[in-house]
Amino acid sequence: MKRFLTLGECMVELAPAGDQLYHQGFAGDTFNTAYYARRLLPQDWTVGYCSAVGQDAVSDDMLDLMRGHGIDISGVRKVADRTLGLYMIQLINGERSFSYWRRQSAAKLLADDPDWLETQLDGASMAQFSGITLAILSPEGRNTLCAALARARANGTHVAFDTNLRPRLWEDEDTMRAGLRMGAEVSDTVLPSFDEEEGLFGDATPADTIARYRDCGASTIAVKDGAGTLTIWDKTEGTQEFQPVKIDSVIDTTAAGDSFGAGFLAGLAMERGIAASAHLAMAVAAQVVQARGALVDLDMTDIEGTQ
Ligand code: ADP
Repeated sequence: MKRFLTLGECMVELAPAGDQLYHQGFAGDTFNTAYYARRLLPQDWTVGYCSAVGQDAVSDDMLDLMRGHGIDISGVRKVADRTLGLYMIQLINGERSFSYWRRQSAAKLLADDPDWLETQLDGASMAQFSGITLAILSPEGRNTLCAALARARANGTHVAFDTNLRPRLWEDEDTMRAGLRMGAEVSDTVLPSFDEEEGLFGDATPADTIARYRDCGASTIAVKDGAGTLTIWDKTEGTQEFQPVKIDSVIDTTAAGDSFGAGFLAGLAMERGIAASAHLAMAVAAQVVQARGALVDLDMTDIEGTQ
């Protein structure tokens, strides 16, 4: 059995449902990627989530949801006296505003037990983590996680890093820049978004983004740019450009990048090559931006048409 593993934090989400009511769900970038990878990979693949949760009812609810979506949750550690992080979305004059409660989040302790972490990664064919996974950890936790990923990579795991910048989660911009480099240095594939790289590093073109992560040692770099050109550099194939599917009415871009990552990595995992993996990724993301919410029920006939 081949194993695709994502590592990170999934939180409780409270989204406005009108009249001061809120709908409670669960959301997290790396979990979203696991959700889509499960839909895309064949059944001889296990898709697992590696995280830490509390021992309370809301943590159990989240694990039930994950299990219900076919995700293997044996890599979730339960920590006493902790719970899930929570965020609330408020609509202020039509704009979404976010408030976070994260101090008690068990996921911040994801890397506190190096032996446990190493066991989770052992034998994984692919392991995906993100800038958010790194940002929520302590500096020691970041070192432990990256060391474990580097060891797994040396043992044959394909490590993938979705940069997902969240400036509010990092101590400061310098630490965020150093953290992104650290994540890229242990990764085979890096999935940055051009607008974020432009803002943080002053990149003028996707070629600048590619040069930086190539210097970190990545062998495949896919620079996303929303509806704009997707630029992918690969060690053996060089640089290729792709145009995302044209969409007339974008409904909700939540999880566009997470689902893109799942499609691209699933394509690589199935050994389809760069161009076919890019088309798979863009087809999945195109469906996700045309529906509300992070976890969209994919139309697989449309997806299979890209293969
Ligand atoms: P992130 O959410 O990581 O910043 P992007 O916003 O660049 O990522 O989107 C990821 C992918 O989703 C893009 O490469 C593209 O394939 C697809 N996508 C996002 N927005 C659009 C759009 N408006 N039209 C078509 N495709 C889109």
